[in-house]
Amino acid sequence: MALLLVFIVDVRAQEVQEPSSEEDIKAALSGGVPMGRWKEGMLFEGVSPMPWLKSSANWFPGTEEIQPEEIRVTFMGTSPSIRPGQMNTSIYVELGNGDNFVFDIGEGSVANYVAAGVALNQLKHVFITHLHVDHFGALPYLWMFGTWAGGWHQPLTVHGPSGRTPEYGTKTMVEGMKMMLGWHRDAFSVFPVGKGHDIQVNEFDFRNNGGVVYEENGVKIIHWQRSHAKDGASGYKLMWNGMSVVWTGDGRPSELDLKYAKGADLYITELQQELMEISSGVQGVPPFLGRYTVDTHHTPGYAAGYLANQIKPRMFMTTHMSFDPYLNEETVAEVRNHWKGPYHFGAPDGIVVNMTKEKVWVREGVLPDFPNNRSPQFNFDCGQLNVPLPPTSREKIQEPFVREQEIDPTKYYPEGYHPELLTEWPVKSDLVVPLEGMPETMKKSMGAQWRLKKKNEALIKENEALKKENMKLQEKKK
Ligand SMILES: [Zn+2]
Ligand SMILES: [Zn+2]
Repeated sequence: MALLLVFIVDVRAQEVQEPSSEEDIKAALSGGVPMGRWKEGMLFEGVSPMPWLKSSANWFPGTEEIQPEEIRVTFMGTSPSIRPGQMNTSIYVELGNGDNFVFDIGEGSVANYVAAGVALNQLKHVFITHLHVDHFGALPYLWMFGTWAGGWHQPLTVHGPSGRTPEYGTKTMVEGMKMMLGWHRDAFSVFPVGKGHDIQVNEFDFRNNGGVVYEENGVKIIHWQRSHAKDGASGYKLMWNGMSVVWTGDGRPSELDLKYAKGADLYITELQQELMEISSGVQGVPPFLGRYTVDTHHTPGYAAGYLANQIKPRMFMTTHMSFDPYLNEETVAEVRNHWKGPYHFGAPDGIVVNMTKEKVWVREGVLPDFPNNRSPQFNFDCGQLNVPLPPTSREKIQEPFVREQEIDPTKYYPEGYHPELLTEWPVKSDLVVPLEGMPETMKKSMGAQWRLKKKNEALIKENEALKKENMKLQEKKK
């Protein structure tokens, strides 16, 4: 009986009471927190969540629109040793103007792009730091399946360094990949591959430190050499809207990093912890293997902190590292030896960074285990969906004999059910569907990215106009 009573009282609306004194309210709601009196732990100036984030703790794919002035960075692969939860390195950078950039595309990372709700045909620019396979292993898949899934109107462009000799450059790697994919590419020609059938390479001279790799739509990306045991390893800095993001790729700490990464808003480097003997015990290998690898190829934790302390970013992150309990505390201790500013791990997979000029915030993304692919995303500026005619047909690439051995469908389809089979491409030329003639659900799903881009472009213009007006007003006041 008593329990029931408590329950009834609990669900009743609260009674209106006399408000507490201002003093009491202040003491209760803001007592015990710094309120500007001192800095609390990691809460540095400008490190705080933005009001448009649905949750300050986690990012859930598809729930937040990137804001017009914002940069969002997602860690899609975070380790050189591929394992569930840590795919090979890949960093996804999205800008408020609708552009996106992939930095490295390590094996397995595509699974995280899919889980993060990215359609593969949205990815058109891949920047590879160097040709260790943990940094580009997923390129063949992205090219082939990204093309199949609607990458019909723009070829994929791979940006990457030259080698000391042509055979070791990005161009040669792509040529080799084309050869490796010969069968697959021809087989997929029965689909509407369009321009996606081809791939573009933008190979730059790896020695040209500070050279511009990419400049378009207000975005500029430069590169510099990294010391990674072999010539042809580069770091990148992306600049847009008065902000910059650096991904160094792999390499030993160098003066060039200090020169080109200086002042970056978000500085991301790789890191190896100084735990050779413990790590070798865990992995059951001799310690010299780890020691030699790090001392010829990588950035020790202490060096990462040293670099950050010179570069002084608004947020420092390390990735390309094992996320293990026995390593994590050590990682922080080594970095903190030099760098006392804002620091987060760019690991495990799914870590998300939101950044504006005023604020930066890092969260863990919640990526589903069994996501569906996002529908392909199209630019509908032309008011049409254009489906190119496939370059080839089964007749051209398959001898009739095997096809003729296919079992008669009436033998396996249940009685009364027999779909109309589509064994030939249904049209004889490019298929052009005006938007008006498209089902609403398709227009909605396949045009989502395009609509967001339009919306943000309009907002950016509006903001610029407002800023100009404000400047005029200020001048008048003077
Ligand atoms: Zn690597
Ligand atoms: Zn490497």
